[in-house]
Amino acid sequence: MDRYDRASLFQSSSLVMVAVAALSLQSAGCALQTSQAMGGEKEAESAQDLKPLVTRVLTREEQEKLTPKEVLQSLKNGNQRFVNGTLTVRDHSSQIRKASLGQFPKAVILSCLDSRIPVEDVFDRGIGDIFVARVAGNFENTDILGSMEFGCKVAGAKLIVVLGHEQCGAIKAAIDDVELGNITAMLKNIRPAVKRVEKIDGDKSSKNDELVRKVTLENVRMTMENIRAKSDILRQMEQDDAINIVGAYYNMDTGVVTFFDH
Ligand SMILES: [Zn+2]
Repeated sequence: MDRYDRASLFQSSSLVMVAVAALSLQSAGCALQTSQAMGGEKEAESAQDLKPLVTRVLTREEQEKLTPKEVLQSLKNGNQRFVNGTLTVRDHSSQIRKASLGQFPKAVILSCLDSRIPVEDVFDRGIGDIFVARVAGNFENTDILGSMEFGCKVAGAKLIVVLGHEQCGAIKAAIDDVELGNITAMLKNIRPAVKRVEKIDGDKSSKNDELVRKVTLENVRMTMENIRAKSDILRQMEQDDAINIVGAYYNMDTGVVTFFDH
């Protein structure tokens, strides 16, 4: 059983959760050797307790006190737990009830549609913790920008993360100029990023892994630029330090999220 299987199993049932927590303990010694992030988060309790942990849903007052930097650190810590196979065990039915009166999430994550990226798990977040917008190729458009403005300006999120990933099918299709139904129009959103890095030496097709990686990173950077250029609200919030807009790259092999410039 690989760690992705285990991560998804955490969501299934309490019986499985206990078994999986035990497995996580057994495999802790061979977890990936990355620096242990210790953020002192309340929800970062160890799976060693082998009991369901009910992470609390944030109140408006708690959300308001958070800084963008603290939210970024909490996502980094959550990703560390995901990589180590020590995801927080949650009682989702309890969280559903507690979140039903309102939501005060910490961050907006713009992710690709890719099924191999369980965004909440990747950052070890539960119900009411984060807004997740998904579209193949994680680009912005009016609807995504409106959703981000709602998430930050109206609902109080402190961080926007544009999350690209390794081996992205949408990026590969844009590089190869795939034409198929509505996919053709969708890929036009990614083509400007392809054009920016086409000067790279070697094969200009998606078989060139280095080209795919560079276009993916450029697509994240371009999306961040477009968010600032097209949304007066979000640009102003960032200038006022009310939010941060950051880019990140998800490694399919390790589960590690690398944040740009952080
Ligand atoms: Zn993708």
